[in-house]
Order: sequence, then structure tokens, then C-alpha cells
Amino acid sequence: EGDRNYLISLFRTIPGFPAKNILFRDFVPVLADARAYALLINALAQALPVSLDDFDYIGGLESRGFLIGAPLALKLGKGFIPFRKAGKLPPEVYHQEYTLEYGKAAIEIEKNTIHKGDRVLIVDDLIATGGTAAAAEDLLKQAGAHVAGYSFVMELDGLPGRRALGDHPISVLMGMP
Ligand code: IMP
Repeated sequence: EGDRNYLISLFRTIPGFPAKNILFRDFVPVLADARAYALLINALAQALPVSLDDFDYIGGLESRGFLIGAPLALKLGKGFIPFRKAGKLPPEVYHQEYTLEYGKAAIEIEKNTIHKGDRVLIVDDLIATGGTAAAAEDLLKQAGAHVAGYSFVMELDGLPGRRALGDHPISVLMGMP
């Protein structure tokens, strides 16, 4: 309980960033604190939504998903696949567009890192609408690969994020009011 409170004390909420009327939730101060960073990765490892045998890789969503996905992969003895914003990876890539509240975005994975039948646990810092996490599944489908589950640090309460993710097992460390 003391550990959990210590970890939570390093999360920040910034009103009005990156746009007016947005409450930005930020876990980045955790990274600078060795104890808290280890607590966070341990908590994610303990809260896995599926068993270790049920996935082959951890997929991290750029960029905060990298900061938790890569250390989690190392701890669990899994490989790590970066899901990058479009235009960063050399060819050949799978490319998936998705809709944001205002406009569009796209993410990519390298074709030679993912194969038919691979099962990927998708990791990110936060789920809001679920659009980014759902796009990660569409991307995997292009390769004939699958989402094994989703691990998030934070979930914005009151947003329909989970409904965008079908029946996949999901774990969340903290609900944010
Ligand atoms: P969604 O696609 O609407 O679920 O938004 C989730 C994506 O946007 C994730 O990749 C998050 O990192 C990012 N995001 C949205 N809101 C916040 C926030 O308040 N803090 C940090 N990241 C956010």
C-alpha cells in the first residue's frame, strides 16, 4: 500500500495541455525515480491480462508505450515490437490509419518483425477513446497476427475506450476520474 501511494504520488495532472479543456495525465516523472519506475514495471508484470504462455511479444505504442513496454518485455523474457508513428520505420511496413477526435493518424510496424499467428500483448500508458489501441489490432491483422490482450497504466473513466477493444483481456493499473 505504501509502495502504491508512493507510485501514485509521482503521477501528474496538467490542466489545459495540450489544448484548452484537456486534463493531461502524465506518468513521466515516475521514470526519473528508480524506485517508482521499478514499482511501475513490477505492477504491470503482476497485473498481466493473460498468462505468459498466451503471448509471444510485447508491442509498445509510440512513444510512452515504449518506456514501459520495453522494460516489461525484458523482465518477462519476451521480445519487443515498436508500433511507430507513420514515416519513422524503413520499408517494408504495414500501415494503418485511424481517426482521432480532430483529424487522422497512422501507425506502422515492420513487416519482417511480425509473422502470421504471432500473439502480441499491446502496452500503452493510457487509454482514452481506444482508437489508438484498436488501430494496433488492425495493424496486426494485416500480418495475420493477433492481439493477445492489452495492458494500460491509466484509463480515463467515462470514456468508451474498452468498448473499442472487443473481447480482448485488458488490464489497467489506475482509473482516472
Ligand atoms: P485514445 O486513442 O483516444 O485511446 O488515446 C490514447 C493515446 O493518446 C495514447 O497513445 C496516449 O499516450 C495518448 N493520450 C491521450 N490522452 C492522454 C493524456 O492525458 N496523457 C497522456 N497521453 C494521452
